[in-house]
Amino acid sequence: MYSLSTPIENLTRVGKTTAGRLKRLGIENVNDLLYYFPFRYEDYSQVVKIKDLRSNQTVTVKGKIVLIENRRSHRKRMTITEALIEDDTGSIKVIWFNQPFLAKNLKPGDEIFIAGTTEINNLSLQFTSPAYEKITGGDSLNTAKIVPVYALTSNLTQKQLRFLIKIALDSVNFVKEWLPQEILEKNKLMPLTQALAEIHFPANFEIQELARYRFKFDELFLIALQSQRLRQYLAQTKAPQIAFKERDIKNFVNSLPFILTADQKKAAWQILLDLEKSQPANRLLEGDVGSGKTVVAAIAILNTILNNFQTVLMAPTEILARQHYHSIKKLLEPFKIKTALLTASEKIYWDGQQETIGKNEVLKFVKGGKAQLVIGTHALIQEDVEYRDLGLVIVDEQHRFGVEQRKMLKDKNKNGLTPHFLSMTATPIPRSLALILYGDLDLSMIKEMPKGRKKIITRLVDEAGRQQAYQFIRQEINNGRQVFVICPLIDPSDKLGVKSVTEEFKRLDKEIFPDLKIGLLHGKLKAKDKEAIMASFKANEIQILVSTSVIEVGIDIPNASIMMIEGADRFGLAQLHQFRGRVGRGEYQSYCFLLAENYNPKTRERLEALVKSNDGFALAEYDLKFRGPGEVYGSRQSGLPELQIAGLTDLELINLTKEQAQDFFKQYKLEDFPLLSAKLDQNKLIDHLE
Ligand code: ADP
Ligand code: MG
Repeated sequence: MYSLSTPIENLTRVGKTTAGRLKRLGIENVNDLLYYFPFRYEDYSQVVKIKDLRSNQTVTVKGKIVLIENRRSHRKRMTITEALIEDDTGSIKVIWFNQPFLAKNLKPGDEIFIAGTTEINNLSLQFTSPAYEKITGGDSLNTAKIVPVYALTSNLTQKQLRFLIKIALDSVNFVKEWLPQEILEKNKLMPLTQALAEIHFPANFEIQELARYRFKFDELFLIALQSQRLRQYLAQTKAPQIAFKERDIKNFVNSLPFILTADQKKAAWQILLDLEKSQPANRLLEGDVGSGKTVVAAIAILNTILNNFQTVLMAPTEILARQHYHSIKKLLEPFKIKTALLTASEKIYWDGQQETIGKNEVLKFVKGGKAQLVIGTHALIQEDVEYRDLGLVIVDEQHRFGVEQRKMLKDKNKNGLTPHFLSMTATPIPRSLALILYGDLDLSMIKEMPKGRKKIITRLVDEAGRQQAYQFIRQEINNGRQVFVICPLIDPSDKLGVKSVTEEFKRLDKEIFPDLKIGLLHGKLKAKDKEAIMASFKANEIQILVSTSVIEVGIDIPNASIMMIEGADRFGLAQLHQFRGRVGRGEYQSYCFLLAENYNPKTRERLEALVKSNDGFALAEYDLKFRGPGEVYGSRQSGLPELQIAGLTDLELINLTKEQAQDFFKQYKLEDFPLLSAKLDQNKLIDHLE
């Protein structure tokens, strides 16, 4: 028997190559195998006598091989293996294609299970390409029961994985129950070890459902506990009270070259009210790309600084940090705010200029309070930065900070206070969903776009229209514009999308636009190289940028006017909408071309929704009805917790786990439940940074 942490390479029949393949699925040890859940099942549990078989039945037959042989089909250029299987009631023909080794592995006289769906061929029943399994005396794994089906990577087989998971299940009793007994009982949950066994090899579908329910509960309960824990933490810390400087703020708003939308006003108002309280604010500001979140942030920043507190603004990448630096600087120009741009690269901007003073000097300004606004990447909180009087932290495109990050910020703050927290996102999360996932956050939404925006013209282009699209692209580039081409991940084993995007890049570069400068961007590039490519795209040294979904949401390239998306059917609508938001940021009419791999009516209907609607929230809601959140938003970038098994349509369970988490904190202390506590700490669903 193996321990839970035994590495997979130590398991029977796992060599280096197989281990590598398993690792690609994220499976490193026995415990990972136990938690690698099937995504569906084959029901082969009915074992039937041959004389009772009817056509189109999915069943298992238990019999003996009477004969088995290969023959070549010259017409179809393949090998056909034919076998005759008999039991004490009759016999049935079985055929397989292109698996000549079967005739070696299986011999007349072997006892065997055959599982599959019967069909009629030449007036008699047969099995075509069924599952098979020699009867050895042990439990069957691939036939004669409900059989799990796993997501695989190339060169792994279901049989291999079932075999290994069965071995891992021998160690299942080492898994410790971490849910408190009371919670288990109150919610009639299946014990963990049983649930692990039953989710892989369920005795029947009712039991499988109960096992699944247990894991859904776990996922959602942990999210709810984390929200609750943050609430509790925030309730017992103090934030600086930042007064509303009404006159100055009104002057600032009146000086803007545009009028704030009603939603912008409301959001700004909610944030200003937050800042006045002595409890740390914890707010999410949601607004579609281009809805004008920056100016709302600027109002909060200005108000904080007018009260002599410092503000931090964090962006996910250096290029976005620099972009924020320039736009905030411009917006708040008349107030002469002392601003530092602190990034990992050499360039330090201080007070409007790229100065020769070093980073250490700037860090001193921050610590001494001379720097009023500090802009940088998320690394800012991890680095060695100290503040004199930090009042507000704004985070762009990172939905939340957990208890750990809050504590870090407090520790960096000389005044000993926990700064207010505002997070901004362009991911259109419907309110119902946000309340569930971000139960601890208050929500402000900017739904209305500023007036007078040019609508991006979106077209579903079929293969026949591709050449026309290229012509149009050339024409736009001749007029000085630039183009994005986005490619999906085609091969799931190519997790970073290097392969597909590189192929598309080569095609465009060599065949379609050999005379143009084309850039390539994917997840495997180093951050520095990515930034360099983005910078040359921004400088129009590159006309077409071919990329996976890695390009940042907030990137501002006003000169880009076309967003072409390959394999658009592989993306969620909310994600497509975000890609689209990367054009149409300047004065030029912009376009979004959607190409699909498959134009069936359902795909068409989904993609047409994007052609018709420009409302990210509506699109997300439409898509959430049919797909999981990971598919709607794109799994990594959205910042949403990656639910493996629960769905966001599990509303009842979501509410239940929320209640249970609240009750738990009312009744108990987390420290009294070390296993639960550890689980919360390792559960990166929420408290994640990059
Ligand atoms: P995002 O929400 O994507 O961060 P930005 O804050 O970058 O959007 O705003 C996009 C553009 O819209 C900016 O150029 C900004 O100056 C402009 N803008 C913001 N609010 C308004 C408004 N109420 N009316 C007109 N233009 C606005
Ligand atoms: Mg923005």
